[in-house]
Amino acid sequence: MAEGAIIDGHAVAAAVRERVVAEVAGLRAAGVSPGLATVLVGDDPASHLYVRMKRKACEEVGIEPFHHELPGHTAQGDLVALLEELNADPRVSGILLQLPLPEHIDAGAMTATILPDKDIDGLSPVNAGLLAQGGAGFAPCTPLGVMELLAHAGVELEGARAVVLGRSRLVGKPLAQLLLAANATVTQCHSRTRDLAAICREADVLVAAVGRPGTVTADMVPEGAVVIDVGTNRTDAGLVGDVDFDAVRAKAGAITPVPGGVGPMTIAMLLANTVRAAAGG
Ligand code: NAP
Repeated sequence: MAEGAIIDGHAVAAAVRERVVAEVAGLRAAGVSPGLATVLVGDDPASHLYVRMKRKACEEVGIEPFHHELPGHTAQGDLVALLEELNADPRVSGILLQLPLPEHIDAGAMTATILPDKDIDGLSPVNAGLLAQGGAGFAPCTPLGVMELLAHAGVELEGARAVVLGRSRLVGKPLAQLLLAANATVTQCHSRTRDLAAICREADVLVAAVGRPGTVTADMVPEGAVVIDVGTNRTDAGLVGDVDFDAVRAKAGAITPVPGGVGPMTIAMLLANTVRAAAGG
């Protein structure tokens, strides 16, 4: 049996960025200038790095970045005031509030403060509700990136059995909704799922979004399945996913590596969502 094909996240992300560049040019020609506001509270080094990467990506595709940095002791009311100001600012098409927030701030209340039309992270209750209803709101960027990878790899989702490991608000739940909207038959698994291996062995498409190295082993994967690894785990051996890559690749039809699979897609889809917001949804 041949090894599974590698689904190259860098290549797919580059294709999405190219599409975004063309869309930005079209919007500018029509007198619309897309802008993304990033809001960072506190001094978490990883959050600073992620926001820097997002701002740089915006500049590269012609989206105007507006950056706001607040100290960790910022009062919730002050953050609300900033978000409301950005909601009202016509230069700002999308607002990205970098999570996690300091503990004294209610993250759910803050994401709910962002106008649904500017919530390009898809985390507000309105957009989560629209997604659950099969509506056309903004979906979170990482699951959107998974869908884009599957599309580029030519994976037929209609009628396929999709198994999603993880049920977070950010990844697992919205991904299951997107797969369902694509007419897959979806099983959502989590830490209390009984006999995970048997469920995985039924999958045509298996997505791991758990955050634990070695969660998916070769014996859990049917021959020819498409395996998407969302996991990002820092170990002594470097960055690894949730999937035993080498052993699983030997059985899979196609597989994403870590790094270089889902990772590059998240920012690409953030850019795509921002341009969509600028175009009026
Ligand atoms: P999370 O909020 O911690 O959720 C993890 C999910 O995995 C939970 O639903 C949990 O179940 C489930 N789980 C835990 N142990 C399990 C097990 N043994 N079997 C089956 N399910 C299990 O994490 P997240 O935010 O969704 O992120 C998941 C992973 O993706 C992390 O490694 C994260 O770093 C990575 N990630 C990557 C990107 C990217 O751009 N590449 C973006 C976002 C996240 P319960 O609900 O029962 O606790």
